[in-house]
Amino acid sequence: MNEQISSNQINSAGHLTIGGVDTLELAQRYGTPLIVYDVAKIKSQIHHFQKVFRDNHVKSAVVYATKAFESLAMFQLANKEHCHFDVVSGGEIYAALAAGVPGKMMIFHGNNKSRAELEMAVRHHLGAIMLDNFHEIDLLNSVLDQMNSKINVMIRLTPGITAETNSYDQTGQVDSKFGFDVQSGQGEDALKQVLHSPRMNLIGIHCHIGSQIFDVTGFEIAAKKMVKFAADWKRKYNFVPKIIDVGGGFGIRYVKSDHPIAPEDFVDAIVKTIKSQAAKQHLPMPAIWIEPGRSIVGPAGYNLYTIGSSKRVPGIKPYVDVDGGMGDNIRPALYHAKYEAVLANDPNAKPVQNVRIAGKYCESGDIMIQNQPLPKIKPGDILAVLDTGAYGYSMAMDYNMNPRPAVVFVENGKSKLVIRRETYADMIRLNQKL
Ligand SMILES: *Cc1c(COP(=O)(O)O)cnc(C)c1O
Repeated sequence: MNEQISSNQINSAGHLTIGGVDTLELAQRYGTPLIVYDVAKIKSQIHHFQKVFRDNHVKSAVVYATKAFESLAMFQLANKEHCHFDVVSGGEIYAALAAGVPGKMMIFHGNNKSRAELEMAVRHHLGAIMLDNFHEIDLLNSVLDQMNSKINVMIRLTPGITAETNSYDQTGQVDSKFGFDVQSGQGEDALKQVLHSPRMNLIGIHCHIGSQIFDVTGFEIAAKKMVKFAADWKRKYNFVPKIIDVGGGFGIRYVKSDHPIAPEDFVDAIVKTIKSQAAKQHLPMPAIWIEPGRSIVGPAGYNLYTIGSSKRVPGIKPYVDVDGGMGDNIRPALYHAKYEAVLANDPNAKPVQNVRIAGKYCESGDIMIQNQPLPKIKPGDILAVLDTGAYGYSMAMDYNMNPRPAVVFVENGKSKLVIRRETYADMIRLNQKL
């Protein structure tokens, strides 16, 4: 059996359960493709992060990176668990507000925020604007002047780290579209401009070195560099950051060959590095903020599909088709992301074949899994793809006019629809006839 599935996830009927609910019942009740979140797993990961900070006695915030999975229910859930929110657009601010998240709990990220978005952020008193570039400093100053307002800001730095991951997920290296480069002095120029602005209150500095990172060393180097920058700037400008935000990017296991440490262990290493470096550099201990997205929602998500046709050609690995694909999870097509699946109606059955799991979209690249061991299967069987909770639904689309799937939360044997399935009518609602 797949090692991601625990034995208590198999019920007496021999079916896969999530949060105590039979996946076949879920498929029956809500239809497929269906995205299912195990709420207890989401909460537990948030609690693990919070515990690391408590155990190390440091002030902190767990800033949930909204983009990994955004829905009103997710905003409500993370809000109840005392998360802050990393938002990157007016739309995310709007949705978070609609879910009842206070503006002050939101941190506004992004490399090209519009004037209208900055105005919205100021109007709703967001917790901080994460300044990304010089244009934005000017734009925000102008917005603040016009609105006769003040706001907290942080400065996003690119510390010059090339983290151990694929090139799609690197953001902390010098050649990045995000943040102020430190090596060339742009970070320091930004600092001077911000300190000079009477309307901006600089509360901290930020870096985010990438995503799906397995090697803790990159985070330790980044943390050390951030403390060094802070200590330099304290000496030169008497600026003491209240917060060092080290971003997210903690890697999770998707397939057998992935061996990440636990997400909270990355954080423990970062916290200990910042503590020891701050003491060494005589820097008052800042609060440490983290921005996990994937590690909070990724392992909690499952995509359920119904198996339909198969294509078998002698000498060629079979294709087994499901009723979803790149429209509900574009990651395999976009960056060759890998997943594992189990047959939900019989996860214990012995594999007898290696197949490709193909989606139903008109793209040859719409292959969800390239090499999936499966038992004997038949049309109508339910396939559960594992660890799909991050960057799946949030990148979903209705290509080929396939409606986007429904999303369900399960906990303690109960399920709750949190995003209803898109209808055909939904898909043409923005259209105007000639
Ligand atoms: C995407 C992103 C995150 C979250 O990354 P994960 O890999 O999902 O943890 C955090 N911070 C910033 C600035 C990001 O762009």
